[in-house]
Amino acid sequence: MILKSSRNQLKNSIRRTFSVLLQNCNDLVICLDLDLCIIECNNAAAKVHRWKRDEVLNKNYMELCLKSGFTNPISFDPNKILLGKKITNHACTFIHTDKTEHTIVWTITRLLNDKKEPYGLLMVGHDITDIKEAWAQVYHLDSIIKHAPGLIYYWKDRNSVHLGCNNSFAELAGLKSCEEVVGKTDFDLPWKSQADSYRKDDQQVIESGKPKSNIEDLLIAADGKPRIVVANKVPLRDIEGNIVGTLSTAADITQLKEAEQATLEAKNKAEIANQAKANFLATMSHELRTPMNAIMGMAQILLRQNPTQEQQECIDIIRNASLGLLSLINDILDFARLEAGRLEISSERFNLYELTHAVITSLQHQLDHKPVKLSLNYSDDTPHYIILDSRRVRQILINLTNNAVKFTQEGEVKVSVTCPEQTKNSTTIRITVTDTGIGIPSDKLEQIFERFTQVESQYSRRFEGAGLGLSISKQLIEAMGGSIGVSSILGEGSSFWVEFPIKISDQIAKQNTLPILDSDKANLFAIKNPQILLIEDNLLNQMVAKSLLEELDCRINIASNGKQALQLFADGNYDLIFADIGLPDMDGLTVTKEIRKYKGEKANIPIIALTAHVLQEDRENCLNAGADAVITKPIMPEELKMTLKRWLGKKSVKKVKLILD
Ligand code: ADP
Repeated sequence: MILKSSRNQLKNSIRRTFSVLLQNCNDLVICLDLDLCIIECNNAAAKVHRWKRDEVLNKNYMELCLKSGFTNPISFDPNKILLGKKITNHACTFIHTDKTEHTIVWTITRLLNDKKEPYGLLMVGHDITDIKEAWAQVYHLDSIIKHAPGLIYYWKDRNSVHLGCNNSFAELAGLKSCEEVVGKTDFDLPWKSQADSYRKDDQQVIESGKPKSNIEDLLIAADGKPRIVVANKVPLRDIEGNIVGTLSTAADITQLKEAEQATLEAKNKAEIANQAKANFLATMSHELRTPMNAIMGMAQILLRQNPTQEQQECIDIIRNASLGLLSLINDILDFARLEAGRLEISSERFNLYELTHAVITSLQHQLDHKPVKLSLNYSDDTPHYIILDSRRVRQILINLTNNAVKFTQEGEVKVSVTCPEQTKNSTTIRITVTDTGIGIPSDKLEQIFERFTQVESQYSRRFEGAGLGLSISKQLIEAMGGSIGVSSILGEGSSFWVEFPIKISDQIAKQNTLPILDSDKANLFAIKNPQILLIEDNLLNQMVAKSLLEELDCRINIASNGKQALQLFADGNYDLIFADIGLPDMDGLTVTKEIRKYKGEKANIPIIALTAHVLQEDRENCLNAGADAVITKPIMPEELKMTLKRWLGKKSVKKVKLILD
């Protein structure tokens, strides 16, 4: 047992040793009392300050610095330190009167007595004058890491005990300073419920020596709010390369995730709104087209009843106004679809030669009252069959030719289809529409392809139109990989050209030999007076379709609902069916499917779906149900004729299909 006196001796001896060590160590050590007077100062401190230790004891540190003429000595608020704030790694360069510099890194803490009351300050300084540059780099790096917003940085020993962290981590953990984390484990921090799994991660990294990356984690921070972080853990090594713990960096991605979520929700909402808009458009278009069908059809029926000159003029006005209205409905619908990003382009094989002929023929009547000649020149080397979206090509051709006719009072409108470039596998089809009309001022040539742009509208309303056609055409052409351009001389005329790059397959090349459209009614069909089954519930539409079909010398049976249609089909012998899609009992798609269930010849009957729904998906629904083609209402006499010709003509598509297959 050691006696009390000898224990005191031991203590005193240790104190003396300690004092000797302190006096001789390289770091600066200064103890100040509450008045900032020096209680103790070691040799290193005295040397750097160029003081004699005995002469400075009990003197005020700040006043001494001032007297020594130091530029830039350390300044600090002693009250804050006495209250518990610790100054760490505070670098300060003070300059002697002879310009000699010393850069010291200070750590200043309070001194507490046995009762834990502060009685002074302890200043420990490390002279880094010789390694200033390197230290500055480390310091900069350290402060970047410490203050980097969003970057969470912490390191632990092999037992997952925290050794240090940066400000973001301290804030997340609700700690007042980074030093507070030292000695704590995750069990002492707000995310203690996850501490076990973090410890497992730490152990895995320590044992494998390999980093663990992109660990996404949801944790509740000290402020009670959930945070999503993504962390990377690497082994922490000492100078010899031994793994002494883990070093982690993490990024707070809560805001990013919230923004991602908000974007997703906004996108979903926009998609729902777009869907609603598209549905509305489909309904509106259907609702507008149904009465249009009746108006245009009735005008057609009236035309067949030997009208007087005056009546004929009235009917023409109705027809022209209806056509204008229909084209406007189509433009608005297309425009809205393009705006909603729902542009639908399909790709099918069709006869461009027939299509251009049909378009020119259908526009011919517009020239009845003006001295304008409308002609088509389809060059011999241009293939007839190509693969593109035929409806869109027709729409573009109608738009350009209509404009040419509209803006030309006398002279000529020429449509030419040529093939300027042709290789074995591909070709370029060029459609040019040239007129001798009013022309376009050169400074307006670019603008006319922008929506709602009309050259004339700025000062007069001589011509009808909404200024949408060319903008829609341009977008459609570009969606099909083509291009459009114009040249024009004001007062002399304009020339619009469209080019489409086309891939040619052998099949398409062979098709060129097929006969062209024969507009002679007598030669239209392979069968004389074909027997048609018309499935249509609406009385007005029945009248319109019947009248148009009778005009083409067809015999017609009408079914007003699906059941009746199936019955008539079972009992009769038909050459073709026109099936309206919207029927009261069984819809036209179901009727089509039922008919396709038949075996043998009967099942091969051409079925043409009739619908006022114009979206691509509606067409696809019809084709998927078994229809061979789709005609949208209002039924245009030319389109009806073309379709009948295609399916019942002398060399109908069915037969061509068989040859190809
Ligand atoms: P609109 O329905 O007004 O015809 P478009 O987009 O088709 O809309 O045409 C836009 C404008 O371009 C027209 O209003 C007209 O000013 C001009 N334009 C188009 N084609 C011709 C043409 N062949 N001759 C003269 N001007 C034309």
